[in-house]
Amino acid sequence: MVSVDNWKYNRCMRAGLTLKISGTVQGVGFRPFVYRLASELKLPGQVYNTTYGVCIELDGEDQAFVNFVDRLIREKPEHAVIKNIEKDGCAAHGYSEFKIGESKPGTKIEAGLLPDLALCEDCRRELFDPADRRYLYPFINCTNCGPRFSIITALPYDRCNTSMKNFIMCPACMAEYHDPGNRRFHAQPNACPECGPHVTLFSNHGERISTQADAIDRAVNLIRQGGSIAVKGIGGFHIMCRADSPDAIRRLREKKHRPAKPLALLFPDLKHVSECCIITDAEQRLLLSAAHPIVLLRKKEALSGRIHESVAPDNPYRGVMLPYAPLQHVLMQKLGQPVIATSANLVDETICIADEEVFSRLTTVVDAVLSHDRPIVRHADDSIARIFQDEPIVLRGARGYTGALLQSKVASAPALVALGGAVEKYILN
Ligand SMILES: [Zn+2]
Ligand SMILES: [Zn+2]
Repeated sequence: MVSVDNWKYNRCMRAGLTLKISGTVQGVGFRPFVYRLASELKLPGQVYNTTYGVCIELDGEDQAFVNFVDRLIREKPEHAVIKNIEKDGCAAHGYSEFKIGESKPGTKIEAGLLPDLALCEDCRRELFDPADRRYLYPFINCTNCGPRFSIITALPYDRCNTSMKNFIMCPACMAEYHDPGNRRFHAQPNACPECGPHVTLFSNHGERISTQADAIDRAVNLIRQGGSIAVKGIGGFHIMCRADSPDAIRRLREKKHRPAKPLALLFPDLKHVSECCIITDAEQRLLLSAAHPIVLLRKKEALSGRIHESVAPDNPYRGVMLPYAPLQHVLMQKLGQPVIATSANLVDETICIADEEVFSRLTTVVDAVLSHDRPIVRHADDSIARIFQDEPIVLRGARGYTGALLQSKVASAPALVALGGAVEKYILN
């Protein structure tokens, strides 16, 4: 994708190099990666975010610069996309060590927003480790996972430009944030139970019922008893209720004015999915991808009792997703059964992202509201995808895809804008 043709350094011995990199290079652990690479190659300098992406200044020798750029492109973080590298040779800057510098404003805004990333495996392990300080903490994240698109208020991507700006990191989180060897080195939404957001359970009119672990336990019990709960997710609220209860589903359909359209399902884990649906390796990879979309899977007839037929009447497919937010992981582990997780909105309305919207628009639809104090800046519905001929096809590109750079396979293709949800209506109706 990135050309390194004409990569020539006309100087020998110690010189300076400035690299201006655009693409998806913020919020993906790119600066920590650059820090580690430059330190390993013993190149002093600095890296900082700007409105066009990331700028790297280096002092060193020509061959070391070539090695650096070669490895930068080959070893970049998994979710980083380098669109362009502008390179400028100059006299040595005079650095004696490498550091991550303060963000600087630029004249052009080119930095790609980043999509929200599902909880990574390392964080999931910590979430369920009783010895970890973030045990069952519903806002655990690191540079490889967590909210991005839904919490960013401005670029460059720094904590002060996210809805985490009012949460001041505690000493333990701050130490991780400044430790180059730590997975949370410069992880902007870094948080823990001491310093980060917390959940609260409200009645459907907004009265506070409970907080933290007790709030989650009460929400789980309400769902088990057949209730409908609004649960704040990453890009908006879901309405959750039992998937095996025709009464709960009927009430939800009546109140949402959604008589027959398929309802999405959230499963605790892959094992539960494979008990109810036929799943191929490609579908499994799609379900577990960083976007964690709703994946259309063929239902198993023999075990359909676990998922009541009224979830998707007369439809051979089920819209299935796995937990992507840590709050959903905790909730689903306690529940131990699939639930309906449909967007919290009335027909033809946008998904609710703030408590007040739920209290005013969905009072008659839900019995309680499990919310938290990390604001959602912009809506992102769940994406919908399927596998066709072993390839993923995105039917609705929203959470997990929105904010990502799309690369055209046609070199001369003009820039395109595509808006609207017509495809989704066509496919799901
Ligand atoms: Zn993580
Ligand atoms: Zn903390």
